[in-house]
Amino acid sequence: MNKRIVILGAGESGTGAAILAKKEGFDVFVSDLSTIKPKYKEMLETRGIRWEEGQHTESDILNADEIIKSPGIPDKAPIIKKLKEQGTPIISEIEFAGRYTDAKMICITGSNGKTTTTLLTHHILTSAGIDAGLAGNVGNSLALQVAETPHPVYVIELSSFQLDNMYKFKADIAVLLNITPDHLDRYNYEMQNYVDAKFRIIQNQTSDDAFIYWNDDPIISREVKKRCPKATLYPFAETYEEGVKAYTENKQIIVNTEKGTFTMEQDLLALQGKHNLYNSLAATISSKIMELRNEKIRASLMNFAGVEHRLEKVARVRGVEYINDSKATNVNSCWYALQSMTTPVVLILGGTDKGNDYSEIEALVKEKVRALIFLGVDNNKLHNFFDGKVAQISDARSMEEAVNQAYRVAQKGDTVLLSPCCASFDLFKCYEDRGEQFKACVRNL
Ligand code: ADP
Repeated sequence: MNKRIVILGAGESGTGAAILAKKEGFDVFVSDLSTIKPKYKEMLETRGIRWEEGQHTESDILNADEIIKSPGIPDKAPIIKKLKEQGTPIISEIEFAGRYTDAKMICITGSNGKTTTTLLTHHILTSAGIDAGLAGNVGNSLALQVAETPHPVYVIELSSFQLDNMYKFKADIAVLLNITPDHLDRYNYEMQNYVDAKFRIIQNQTSDDAFIYWNDDPIISREVKKRCPKATLYPFAETYEEGVKAYTENKQIIVNTEKGTFTMEQDLLALQGKHNLYNSLAATISSKIMELRNEKIRASLMNFAGVEHRLEKVARVRGVEYINDSKATNVNSCWYALQSMTTPVVLILGGTDKGNDYSEIEALVKEKVRALIFLGVDNNKLHNFFDGKVAQISDARSMEEAVNQAYRVAQKGDTVLLSPCCASFDLFKCYEDRGEQFKACVRNL
């Protein structure tokens, strides 16, 4: 009898995993506790894959030889507990897909900057003529591409949840951008558990592989010393430090690898701001390791269009710049947004608090922010922290209200920045919805 694979969760990754498993001849069943999107149902149906929604039928699941779990399902879900108790192996879609391809894998993780760096790296590679697939949290799932549209190279964004269930998978190039507290609810509120998940990005690497990381991140540098990675190390930093392979000097970015040196004027980078400098350095190191020509890398770093909802310029209205950074769902990413501002700022923030500590942005708020607009159902925590520290503070209960207030208080030359520090679920469907509403309101001004 064929080995039985059960896939839990039929989103992008689950559906892709099911399609690949079916192609590889497994007995496949897909189970999702919520409703499956019509698009995914159709993909399963057309390939003759059995599925259920709104329930987990144990008799169809507990007999699996192996489980592929969607990264969204926490370990404490009852069905996962049962499977673990009986010792059924549970893997991620990326782990599964990795078994059926020998493509080169460029894998990117970190608490912030994953999507930006993944898309930028993919842009550089494809513009240079490399047939690279985009996978992980962005684009189509790796499994679906491996099954139906294989590529010789993949650029993959990996969250800690995806890394959690990866065991044998190996990244040829691993990128670790930073580690700051996030998602601790999924890691028993133990920071080290989250750190360990992130460091799975380098597991199984050998000396033929590359590990690119931000050298100034205290957690990363501590762990690198402790773990002594086998891969060739490519640390990067803002300015030169002993051992770093990429840095800036006299407003030039400099990247040194055994494949040659790359230099470029920092002002020419399409992505501005300190955080984006790190993302650009990481993408450039990967590109050099992939032996791309300097002119190609330079052109792509200059013409990259940026990523929606990440410090996205929306419009200039009466001399005021409006910037959508709705994806800033934690305090650290707002810190980077504020840090990159060169004008006085009207900052719109608030939403569903994830245990935020606003002291991280206090100094920058005092230095750069003219007015704060709290956009959330419950703004008490924000008031408790910021009242008295900024002259103008107001509350808004809808995006329209927030943008209208911002319009009234902003002065010519200012920037209105939506960089909320919080999740969006109190007033919006998701951060994309929040960003779209912001853009629509700005365009209506
Ligand atoms: P992720 O995919 O890790 O969530 P994104 O690229 O979507 O990261 O960016 C999320 C937020 O973090 C944005 O607000 C962005 O401005 C900010 N950000 C991007 N890169 C970095 C970085 N290297 N360090 C800190 N913050 C960053």
